[in-house]
Amino acid sequence: MSDHGVIIAGAGQAGCSAAVKLRNLGYDKPITLIGAEPHPPYQRPPLSKAYLLGEMPRDRLFLRPEAFYAEQEISLRLGEEITAVSTADRRVACGSGTLPYDHLILATGASPRRLPAALGGELPGTYTIRGIADINAIAPEFQAGRRLVIAGGGYIGLEVAAVAAKLGLEVTLIEAAPRILQRVAAPETAAFFRELHQSNGVRILEDTQLARVTGTERATGVELAEGSTIAADFIVFGIGVTPDTALASAAGLAVDNGIVTDSSGRTSDPHVWAAGDCASLPFRGTRIRLESVGNAIDQAEVIAANIAGVPTVYDPKPWFWSDQYDVKLQIAGLNAGYDSTVTRAAPDGSVSVWYYRENTLIAADAMNDPRAYMIAKRLLDAGKSAPPDLVGDPGSDLKTLLKT
Ligand code: FAD
Repeated sequence: MSDHGVIIAGAGQAGCSAAVKLRNLGYDKPITLIGAEPHPPYQRPPLSKAYLLGEMPRDRLFLRPEAFYAEQEISLRLGEEITAVSTADRRVACGSGTLPYDHLILATGASPRRLPAALGGELPGTYTIRGIADINAIAPEFQAGRRLVIAGGGYIGLEVAAVAAKLGLEVTLIEAAPRILQRVAAPETAAFFRELHQSNGVRILEDTQLARVTGTERATGVELAEGSTIAADFIVFGIGVTPDTALASAAGLAVDNGIVTDSSGRTSDPHVWAAGDCASLPFRGTRIRLESVGNAIDQAEVIAANIAGVPTVYDPKPWFWSDQYDVKLQIAGLNAGYDSTVTRAAPDGSVSVWYYRENTLIAADAMNDPRAYMIAKRLLDAGKSAPPDLVGDPGSDLKTLLKT
């Protein structure tokens, strides 16, 4: 192995975590972190929460102060895109020429989907939320009394709805599936958030198809498939993301709804690794792609360990959170494939929904219930379950579960 070191494509959550972990493990060869955005690595979750609300200063978004990278001898190249990878030569092409690597980590993230341009999806007044630039563009629209239509009732759509409602906008959220959070949560969790939003004045239209964005010079609203229109001053798409795999595909790496990795984070080329939203990884006999901070960090750190010479396997322990109004949702585990749920509701308004497959606990959603979250997470991390009848009894002490 030469001394070219590691190049990381993408200076986001995963890219930054990999660089930091490499240095923490004593890796002493060059590390070059190349990011297309002009900002040092930053956290995205506040973009649809406190930062959009104006309650968090920009500086607090950044994962590390800029000086940190120089101190750690991590060469940070911002506003620069890697445009091609030659796995045969082990070189990447970027604005300034080509650079050699011993290991390349692809941490390119994902891009939000929009309606196609032919359906008005690129008209001025339509927005997606992925980066700081998106918030800079959309922030002036968030004025009390303005009308916002949000397409998509997943977590980002719901978080934007919460911010807008709090700021006094008139919000309509349209979900094509029979209910909000259809892909990611049980009907009980969806019902909790539907009620929360409706009580804050958000109009939620489920099982409703968007036909197009209306307007010629600028979006003026949306037309629904059944023919009616809803006027809006601006529109936000929260209709999911597409993993950024173009670089990997062009380099001939295996791609299947994400850059295909093995359990150590290695792609189909032994010198190339992939982490975060762009990576597809093995999980319980199938392949998944996780879009969460926890996954981006853990997967990147596993890759760093493998590169630093500590053979490590990634065993995902998913966790996630969402903030809407005064509700903190915390999710432990992955509910894919659940066949039953148990809801635990306390008099103080805290609620948790526990997901089971064949009577074994696989995930839990906790709404304003950090204790339920902590217990579910500890059980799942330890590979333990929780008897559904005990969980469903609000008088039971969940902590006893940790002792068995
Ligand atoms: P990113 O952080 O997106 O970083 C990828 C970077 O790579 C980008 O900066 C991109 O510009 C750059 N890049 C792409 N291609 C190239 C190239 N060819 N050359 C150079 N650079 C390139 N997760 C949670 O767990 N909880 C939450 O509450 C939560 N809320 C979220 C709210 C919002 C609004 C968004 C957008 C995401 C949220 N997430 C949340 C998801 C979480 O932020 C992502 O899963 C995480 O950022 C993924 O990290 P990543 O490094 O894979 O990708």
